[in-house]
Formats: sequence, structure tokens, C-alpha cells
Amino acid sequence: MNHNSMLDPATIRQQFPLFSHYPRLAYLDNAATTQKPKSVIDAITNFYEKGNANIHRGVYELAVRATHQYEGVRGKVAALINAPKPETIVYTAGTTAGINLVAQSFLEPNLQAGDEVVISFMEHHANLIPWQMACKEKGAKLRVIPMSKDGVLDMKAYKEMLSPRTRMLALVHVSNTLGTVNPIEEMIALAHRRDIPVLVDGAQSIAHFPIDVQALDVDFFAFSGHKMFGPTGVGILYGKEEHLAAMPPWQFGGDMIRDVAFEETTFAEAPQRFEAGTTPIAGVIGLGAAVGFLQALDNNEIQQHLKKLGRAAREKLARIDGLRIIGNAENSTATVSFVLEGVHPHDVATFLAEDQVAVRAGHHCTQPIMDFFEIAGTTRASFSIYNEMWEVEQLAESLENIRRFFLA
Ligand code: PLP
Repeated sequence: MNHNSMLDPATIRQQFPLFSHYPRLAYLDNAATTQKPKSVIDAITNFYEKGNANIHRGVYELAVRATHQYEGVRGKVAALINAPKPETIVYTAGTTAGINLVAQSFLEPNLQAGDEVVISFMEHHANLIPWQMACKEKGAKLRVIPMSKDGVLDMKAYKEMLSPRTRMLALVHVSNTLGTVNPIEEMIALAHRRDIPVLVDGAQSIAHFPIDVQALDVDFFAFSGHKMFGPTGVGILYGKEEHLAAMPPWQFGGDMIRDVAFEETTFAEAPQRFEAGTTPIAGVIGLGAAVGFLQALDNNEIQQHLKKLGRAAREKLARIDGLRIIGNAENSTATVSFVLEGVHPHDVATFLAEDQVAVRAGHHCTQPIMDFFEIAGTTRASFSIYNEMWEVEQLAESLENIRRFFLA
């Protein structure tokens, strides 16, 4: 780790080839996906050019090397989130796949009519629908932790919601829509007092905060490669060893078995048991490079930089007439959702795009949040480590122009 210098977004930016093609682009859609540094792109290209083979099967040099590289990434990811062993790291297709795996393989087999599953009001659909489907299947009840108009979870209601019937808590760490950072440490501890297992959706937190799954004592932690400077199509599910060992396979096919006969099949140990078929090998290797990229940066500096950008964006946007920020939690990350009075969020995004500001508009896969605030959607600016202050200015100036245009 480099502790000697402050995080310099301009230098970091140089590591991302996309910005050399779009030097004036304020890319503020990082909650949707981050850009990729050259080291990640090179790792993928090198694999295909010099190392491509399928894993776990071949005995020739290429195949052995590919397997070694692929398996090596488990240890790197384990180090990133302080998981106790590489075997607690399951490769998935992304956050969505990891959550579905836990809902279907961990929760559902033991879920009974009358049981309860607790989620929060600010879940991404990926951390809502899998639990809703499991509950529907088994006649269990989905309970939802309410939130305030600032986008902060009601801890009193949460505590009262936990009961001997609660079988699971599934909670987003950082809201992709509101930017709220939830007090997961405290919430996990409260659930554990009643022996309730907890899954944390870390899709938005993995690139912003240091994660220590052992300190959190979290049962499952899911995230996506593409939101942490890695490729699409690959993600991680961390699970406690005892949980993974007890979970039945989720998908069936090659590479997840021990012995197969027509009468009976036995399965490999975790994590292989959950990795049926040919997995995204190049993606995993690219993800390994993304982990290396993140680890070369200083976590405190990342957080200071993002805090600075988030605060500046919130302050500047709050000064714009007719602009309402959706989500005003004290503890929030550099993701700012807003509505501009009288202008549809998609129109705002379209006009911003003309000024080289890339943002996302819509419900952000969190429709209940939109219903709660009685809006159709928001426009969302989400920042990352390579964003600079001029991008906040570009966003604010462009919004001022849009407001003037629509008021005229
Ligand atoms: N959870 C949160 C909080 C997200 O922001 C996202 C993606 O936007 C997801 C889950 C789903 O991630 P993926 O589409 O990579 O599976």
C-alpha cells in the first residue's frame, strides 16, 4: 500500500484508457458500473493471447497455468475482504447470482410457512425479489425495515421486527439510489443475538470501503466485479465455511461433481460445488487484477476523496432552485439522487449528456423507494476514485442551464 502521497485522481485517471478517448467526459455513472484500468484490460487480453485454456481438466502447461491463475484469485479476493480461507470465496456471475444462490440453497430448504425474512426498504431488486420468491414458495412472510424521509433505516422498528420466527436478514450496505451507508455492524450484531444469519449486499460498498467479513462476522457478503474496476459477468459470494459446507448445490453440470453414475451423483466440496460449468475464467483473472489495483491504493485516501466529492456535489446541487436531493442520510457515500422540479429525470439525463455528463435516470432497480417518495424516478450522479472536482462543477453548471432552459 502507498501511504506516502494523497490520492491523486488525475494520475489514477491516466490508468483508465477510456478517459484518453473521452477526456472531457464527466463519467458519473459509477454505481451502474465502473471503468476498467489498463491492468485489468491487460490481464484479460494476456490471458486470451498467451494463456487461454479451460481450467481444472487439462494436464498440459496452458491448462495447468490457467487453473493456477484462476484459483489464485480466490486467495487475492479473500485477502481483500479478510475472509479466513480462499475456500470461502465462491465465484458467481455477480451480486444478483450470489444472492439468488443464498436464497435458494441456504434459505429456502429450511424455510417454513409462518417464518419471516427481513429486508430493508432500500434494497435493490436483486436483494428483494429472491427473498420474496422464497417466501412465496414456502408461505413465509417478507418483513421490510422502514426508513425516514432522509433515507435512514428505522433502527427501533428493526429491533422490534426481529423475532424467533426470523430466518434471515438481507441488507444492502450502501444504497445505490440514496447513497445511504447502513450501520451493518450494529445490525448484524443485533440479528446474531437471535442467531439470525445475515447476508450483506456489498455491490456499492466494495469499491468505497474496506471490508472485513470476519470483523463484521457477516454470514454472506455478495458483490460484483464490474462495480470495483473489474469485468462484467463475474462476482463474488463470500460465505462462512460452515454455511457453504451445509448448502446443497444450486446448479448442476460439469466441474461441480465428485462422482456421477446414472443412479446417483455425489458433489464436490464448496466452493466448486457452486461453480457448475465453464465459469468466466478470463473474468476471474481480470477480477484478480482489479483486486490488485484496489489494494495498491490507500483506503483512507479513497474514502477522503469520495467524501470530498460527495459533499461538494450535495452542497452545489442543493443550491440549485427547484432541485430536491432524494436521500439525505448523514452517513452517505458519493452517490447523489435528485429530482428537478418540472423536468422528467430522463430529460435531465439527456440534457446532461449533451454537456458531457454521464449519469443514470430512472428507478435504479429500487421501485419501492420511488413509491415511497412518490416520484417516477430520479437522476443519479455517482462518483468514483478517478472523478475530479471539475466534474462536480460540470454537473452543477449543466444543471443550472437545464433549469434556466425549462423555466424560460
Ligand atoms: N445490489 C446493489 C445495491 C446494486 O447497486 C446492484 C447493481 O446495480 C446490484 C445489487 C446488482 O448487481 P449486478 O447487476 O452486478 O448483479
